[in-house]
Amino acid sequence: MSRVLVASRNAKKLNELRRILADAGIAGIEIVGLDDVPPYPEAPETGATFEENALAKARDGAAATGLPCVADDSGIAVDALNGMPGVLSARWAGGHGDDAANNALLLAQLGDVPDERRGAQFVSTCALVVPGGEEIVVRGEWPGRVDRAPRGDGGFGYDPLFVPDGGEVSAAQLTPAEKDAVSHRGRALKQLLPALSALA
Ligand code: IMP
Repeated sequence: MSRVLVASRNAKKLNELRRILADAGIAGIEIVGLDDVPPYPEAPETGATFEENALAKARDGAAATGLPCVADDSGIAVDALNGMPGVLSARWAGGHGDDAANNALLLAQLGDVPDERRGAQFVSTCALVVPGGEEIVVRGEWPGRVDRAPRGDGGFGYDPLFVPDGGEVSAAQLTPAEKDAVSHRGRALKQLLPALSALA
């Protein structure tokens, strides 16, 4: 069994990668999270791009543990805000991870923006760093639009405001399985499968 570190404490993220590996028929990889390895200093996310942040996190995890490490960085890029909040999505309203405040601020900013210019995409970049070996960075995007009021209580972050293209419901109204099947993170993680299967 090869151990692969996912640089996260979020059980949902760990399980999502476990499910994607299982669905692809890849056995022989044990996914472990930050709570399963000895603690190491975690640098703040200071990169200008999702790619820089994901790669820095994966390099730190691989160097600290000697394990192949997967790390992700994600956010929402709103067309009418020229791609912001982008890498600042988690702290758009000032406090890290205050979803309600982030959503309220985004809605207020887009108050006068007409329906035809409310496009946005969720973006996820995932990096895989193998100690002494390869570095891969992939990107998944999930296009949609920012609605005028929150709907649904599933998901997290900007999900209640985000209506994916091709449907009318918000991302917070999808089941976890429906979201994983099409989301930015699922699309990015699937691109790592060939490299992960080579580690199995
Ligand atoms: P992180 O990369 O997991 O730290 O996510 C950064 C921020 O982007 C989160 O705090 C959310 O605000 C936003 N975000 C990322 N992925 C999603 C998603 O799938 N749904 C809603 N918001 C998301």
